[in-house]
Amino acid sequence: MLILDGREVSKKILEDLKQEIKEYERKGFRKPSLAVILVGEDPASKIYVKRKRETSEKVGIHSICVNLPESISEEELISEIKNLNDDDNIDGILVQLPLPSHINTGKIIETINPSKDVDGFHPENVGRLATGIGKGVIPCTPLGIWLMLKHYNIDIFGKDIVIVGASNIVGKPMSLVFLKDEKATITVCHKNTKDLKSHTQKADILVVAVGKPKLITDDMVKEGSVVIDVGINRLENGKIVGDVDFENVKNKAFAITPVPGGVGPMTVVSLLVNTVHLYRLRHGFPPHPFAQI
Ligand code: NAP
Repeated sequence: MLILDGREVSKKILEDLKQEIKEYERKGFRKPSLAVILVGEDPASKIYVKRKRETSEKVGIHSICVNLPESISEEELISEIKNLNDDDNIDGILVQLPLPSHINTGKIIETINPSKDVDGFHPENVGRLATGIGKGVIPCTPLGIWLMLKHYNIDIFGKDIVIVGASNIVGKPMSLVFLKDEKATITVCHKNTKDLKSHTQKADILVVAVGKPKLITDDMVKEGSVVIDVGINRLENGKIVGDVDFENVKNKAFAITPVPGGVGPMTVVSLLVNTVHLYRLRHGFPPHPFAQI
């Protein structure tokens, strides 16, 4: 059984990005830059933002954080985003989700200039991914999973792929990535799926992004399959686990991602890939090869 080690794969990509950015600086260009907007004091969001900023700085991406109070109005937040849209020194804008309930998340995503939409959530970028028209941005988690599968030479062509979870940030764009890349056959499951097991058992590649510990048990997995666990769940004892019963499923799978240390680091590194990708487009360079499928 092969452990798909997101920490190792991401280290390699981070090193490549670091060298690439040094080269831009050597040629007299400014550093790529990422602006992260954090609204409120949610502890998990604060940790995610800190990790994203620290990793950015490690590879030479300049990062700024705009901390805004929980009570900020939708109009004020929109105005902050517009300022960043107009700032030529900013390549990527990320609004950390979730936002407080009085703010319309869709409206905020639509306010980000698509050419700075480093998360790839803007409808224009989603449309580009769906149609293959133009140079868009692929959401970080699906991109990270795709980069990991490529790193381990895991064949996607014509495979039966089952995705459990249909969110805008993971499940839906993941299905588009697989469909676009290698013409795999995709099934997307969600809360209303009848008999989840009958689907997961057929998967050559199973991607699970739900947020429920041990949702996927070994009897639900095909012998010799590839299992990608996106879930992040904090148990009462403080331990972080995924959605897959790792200890039992690992004996049946050909390859599996651990939690932590699997998809998480690949998501962070993809954010930086997307930042450099947008920087390149802003400077009239070709798209970043890691940001294209
Ligand atoms: P989300 O927006 O809550 O979406 C969850 C999806 O799972 C929904 O499509 C939901 O169905 C579906 N679902 C819920 N219960 C189900 C069940 N019993 N059987 C089948 N499907 C079910 O969550 P998300 O933002 O995609 O995140 C999912 C998990 O991934 C969370 O644990 C999150 O923390 C983690 N995550 C990790 C990373 C990473 O980098 N590792 C990145 C993003 C998210 P409906 O559509 O019918 O509601």
